[in-house]
Amino acid sequence: MRRKLIAGNWKMNASKVQCEALISALLQNIPHSGGADMAVCVPYPYLAQVESALRDATIRLGAQDVSEHDKGAYTGEVSGAMLADFSCKYVIVGHSERRSYYGDSDEVVALKFLAAKRAGLIPILCLGETLEERERGVTRDILKRQLDAVFDRVSIAEFAGAVVAYEPVWAIGTGKTATPEQAQDAHAFIRDQLRLKSATVAAETQILYGGSMKASNARELLVQPDIDGGLIGGASLIADDFIAIATAA
Ligand code: PEP
Repeated sequence: MRRKLIAGNWKMNASKVQCEALISALLQNIPHSGGADMAVCVPYPYLAQVESALRDATIRLGAQDVSEHDKGAYTGEVSGAMLADFSCKYVIVGHSERRSYYGDSDEVVALKFLAAKRAGLIPILCLGETLEERERGVTRDILKRQLDAVFDRVSIAEFAGAVVAYEPVWAIGTGKTATPEQAQDAHAFIRDQLRLKSATVAAETQILYGGSMKASNARELLVQPDIDGGLIGGASLIADDFIAIATAA
């Protein structure tokens, strides 16, 4: 039985004061059912503050990106070892905003995935099609291409333990959510692709849904057999909403 994971992606939001308020509200209201793991992927400057606020808490810390390089002359970049130094457990790689605004190619995403693994972090590998691709009926081709690019460089043994997030680009931050059927179909396809490599890894890999998940639609998505949690953007910035999603999980 796979555990559910509810991970927040704060994107480029928050301030020191907001971090303190948000984390303290989460810690006061964290569901005690123990049914779902929780994580927050925060902007780099707040890693130290949130690391300290989460000490002894069950909510885990994550980052939103990682350099494909381990160290050296890469001004502005942050390595996996640096993230691990701040007790990060997770790091998002291949978010659609990185792919589309910062040119993270499938190959770079694969390299970032490997860099995360080298540092002992759990990559949250984001995959997803644009609206135009969905309308052209090539959603599965896109998911397969994005996944295959990782498997060009990463063995299934190295992949084991990673998290995948299916995030249809048209649903991210738009208020449009994939229907439970659309999401389940994509998740089952991703799991089938993993099964071609290893039945065990396919059975154990957590596949999260991301794209305007909120308290009102979380339950119908999270009951789908292949949806193992959520990667939550906007709703993770509101403690009550994030807690409500974790409670649904
Ligand atoms: C995301 O940033 O990964 C995301 C899913 O955002 P939102 O929940 O706001 O659509």
